Amino acid sequence: MISDNLRKVKQEMQDSCALVSRLRSDVTLVGVTKSVDLGQTIELAKQGVDHLAENRVDQFLSKKEKMRDFTNLSWHFVGNLQRRKVKSVINEIDFFHALDSIKLANEIQKRAEKTIYCFVEVNVSGESSKQGVTSENLLDFIEQLKTLDKIKVVGLMTMAPLNSSKKEQHEIFAKLKKLQETIQKKNLSFAPCTQTSMGMSNDFSVAIQEGATFIRVGTALFKD
Ligand SMILES: *Cc1c(COP(=O)(O)O)cnc(C)c1O
Repeated sequence: MISDNLRKVKQEMQDSCALVSRLRSDVTLVGVTKSVDLGQTIELAKQGVDHLAENRVDQFLSKKEKMRDFTNLSWHFVGNLQRRKVKSVINEIDFFHALDSIKLANEIQKRAEKTIYCFVEVNVSGESSKQGVTSENLLDFIEQLKTLDKIKVVGLMTMAPLNSSKKEQHEIFAKLKKLQETIQKKNLSFAPCTQTSMGMSNDFSVAIQEGATFIRVGTALFKD
C-alpha cells in the first residue's frame, strides 16, 4: 500500500533528521515513479507527494500531460537525457538532475525557453562505469557553464554504488556535501549550488544524515 509505505518513508526521514538535528522541512521527498503506471503515480500525488521524478522522456511527457489537473506538482527528470531528446522535454522539466557534459549543457541552452534548474551529477566514487563529472573536474565544468544563461546550477547530485556499505555511503554523501559547499562559497550567480540531491530507497537515511536536501525515492514507496 502506497499510504503505508509513504508513512514509513516519512517517519524515517523524520528520524534521520532528528539524529543530526536537522529540520524535516529542509529535506524534500522526490517520488521516483519511473517503474510504476499512471494510476500509482496519481495515487502518490493524491497522498501529497508533490515532487515527482521520471527517467524516460516518453513516459514523463505522457504522465505530465495526463496529470495536468494536479497544478501543484514539480517534475524532476533523473535519468540520462539524450541530446536529441532535449528539445521535446526540457521546457517541461522543473528540475534536471543529470547534467554531466558540456555538449548536453549547450543543447539545453539552445532549446530552453526558460531558466532550467539543474543539478550537476558528480561521480564521487570514481567508478568508471558511472555517469557524472569527476570531483577533480567539477569546478572547471561548472565554470564553463557561466555563459549559458538558461542554466542555473541549483545543486549537485550523486548516487552511491550499488551494494555499497553504510560506511561507504556516508563517505560518498559527505564528499558530495563538501563539494556543494565549496561551490556555494564561490557565490556564482549562475551556480548558487545550495542543494544536494542524494539518497534513494536503500540509503536515504544516510544521505539525510550527511545533508541531503532532495532525496529520490522509488522502490520504498511502491513495494507490496
Ligand atoms: C530509479 C532512480 C531512483 C530511485 O531508486 P529507488 O532505489 O527505487 O528508490 C533515484 N535516482 C535515480 C537517478 C534513479 O534512476
